[in-house]
Amino acid sequence: MSTAFETQPGIAPESSLIGEPMLIGSSPRRHSRTAQVHWGSRSIAIGGQSPVVVQSMTNTDTADAIATAIQVKALAQAGSELVRITVNTPQAAQAVPAIREQLDRMGVDTPLVGDFHYNGHKLLTQYPECAQALSKYRINPGNVGSASRRDDNFAQMIEAACRWNKPVRIGVNWGSLDQALLARLMDENAKRARPWDASSVMREALVASAVGSAQRACELGMPADQIVLSAKVSSVQDLISVYSELARRCDFALHLGLTEAGMGSKGIVASSAAMAVLLQQGIGDTVRVSLTPEPNGDRTREVIVAQELLQTMGLRAFTPLVVACPGCGRTSSTFFQELADKIQRHLREQMPIWRASYPGVETMQVAVMGCVVNGPGESKHADIGISLPGADEAPVAPVFVDGERTVTLKGERIAEEFQAIVDDYVRRRYGAAQLT
Ligand code: SF4
Repeated sequence: MSTAFETQPGIAPESSLIGEPMLIGSSPRRHSRTAQVHWGSRSIAIGGQSPVVVQSMTNTDTADAIATAIQVKALAQAGSELVRITVNTPQAAQAVPAIREQLDRMGVDTPLVGDFHYNGHKLLTQYPECAQALSKYRINPGNVGSASRRDDNFAQMIEAACRWNKPVRIGVNWGSLDQALLARLMDENAKRARPWDASSVMREALVASAVGSAQRACELGMPADQIVLSAKVSSVQDLISVYSELARRCDFALHLGLTEAGMGSKGIVASSAAMAVLLQQGIGDTVRVSLTPEPNGDRTREVIVAQELLQTMGLRAFTPLVVACPGCGRTSSTFFQELADKIQRHLREQMPIWRASYPGVETMQVAVMGCVVNGPGESKHADIGISLPGADEAPVAPVFVDGERTVTLKGERIAEEFQAIVDDYVRRRYGAAQLT
């Protein structure tokens, strides 16, 4: 008798138990289909050989159109290329066109993704202006209503996407996994000669739900190149295993992210550890870092972390990065840490202007070093660098530009003078690039 493991299209045979994470390799980028997300004149490609797209999500009440538009603008200015908003109530659905209009008035053309659970089929049908104003819909097959209505509700959402010509993300999540599917796979697993452990069955259920739902969407008329898949879990090893298997079984574009990553350094480390392993193998076409902000914390931090993950891996460049030493017993004061922080903030703040005026500036490297031990060497390797005086060193700070020592700064205004030198370098080097 056939089992779901064998009859689900593309699902792995029993011998290929999900569970063993793949090792980091130097594989070229995985070839996936390319989904196109449009708004106005802006078109963003997700998948294929396109750069990995950074996205984020608001945490405002979507029904509050002004607050949501302001946060979308902040996320977009930080570098989020897509922004997802919750669409959970009729009031939220009614606010979506107003949010879109407000953003357009502010000159923010970042596409909006609607995040639907439980009632998305109703909202997309009853509020056509909402369906139209969104650029992409996120559908969670585990949260599309009661078991008896699940197929119909899912079909209604796919039909809305087809009607409005919008791509979808079919996003499963282990916290809202289709329980009927999981129970069926558990039953089938119990009949195996050598049953899998419970976590392997859960991973299999996630992959089967994502791939099976995508195939159902295709059967309903959704073009395969309009589908992005995700299967989010909150454990690093589970994420690596599940996405490795997803990438093996299908060629849909993949949205990558560790769900409920947590706060602060834990969230950043866990997200980076999981996603770096996968990105290194070419798996992942768009990323979101699901950081829990500090109370009243800045939501844009998740965007910066995602950018820095991609940039430090050499996959994309967004903002000039500061190379700084950690400091040690030779550090004479906190001045060099303050300067490194000040310069990094300055570079990030300038990017909304520089991005348009100085193409290529995002690849610039700036070094701020604490003493003469590694300072001059590291500064020479950067495009522009400064080596501050360590303990017992003369109170002077040589500056290096394109590997050559230029001026030596000293006195109270080293920070201001170095920042001015950086700004001048940007104008000369990258402004010139624009003219050629
Ligand atoms: S560059 Fe100097 S101050 Fe910085 S860590 Fe190395 S020895 Fe310490």
